[in-house]
Amino acid sequence: MERVQRRVVACKRCPELRAYCAEIGRTKKREHRDAAYWAQPVPSFGDPEARVLLVGLAPGAHGSNRTGRPFTGDASGVWLYRALHRAGFANQPEQRDRNDGMQLNDVWITAALRCAPPHNKPTPGQLRNCAPHLAAELDALPNLRVVVGLGAIGTKAIVAALSAAGYVFARKPEFAHGAEATASRARAPREIVLLTSYHPSRQNTNTGVLTEPMLDAIFNRARALL
Ligand code: SF4
Repeated sequence: MERVQRRVVACKRCPELRAYCAEIGRTKKREHRDAAYWAQPVPSFGDPEARVLLVGLAPGAHGSNRTGRPFTGDASGVWLYRALHRAGFANQPEQRDRNDGMQLNDVWITAALRCAPPHNKPTPGQLRNCAPHLAAELDALPNLRVVVGLGAIGTKAIVAALSAAGYVFARKPEFAHGAEATASRARAPREIVLLTSYHPSRQNTNTGVLTEPMLDAIFNRARALL
């Protein structure tokens, strides 16, 4: 897994995204003007022995692209790590940066895209470029049992990665909050359950599309499945 993450950080398959992330790191946001932005592809984070994998969309320009850790330093992360803490998957509820002491237990967090895309909208070509990193992570998680797709794009990416890894879904997975689909294959890990959740983006949490009890229900279900 360390090798996989080193390859992520060194990746230059999307030069336009590398340039965009570097530019954001130079220009910064006023409230973070004293911060040293990460401004590179963001490696995944968590417990390499995890049984639960979370797949988000992409780093936020002033969140993960600043802090260098998934879901850290922006509003999505506030919701996600608090929910993981309530479900017993994180040692603390608050996140700030890579040195905040956060430790995950039994959870690995990754994303469909590792570089922040303009307007949070990756192109199909960029997602294709980044897919091999997700495939490599799947291979490096021997204990995997539950996958949580956070948002439609993260879900689509992990469904494609599971299919490419030889998993066959009992029925076509659909994207809805709390939807569930089981995939199996002949070799270990033999069976994986996919849960889908609305993404904890500000757009969803500020509008009530996603509430804390709704997010808790996803992680409580993951816990029950384990
Ligand atoms: S988005 Fe993915 S494939 Fe593209 S440069 Fe970043 S890490 Fe590489």
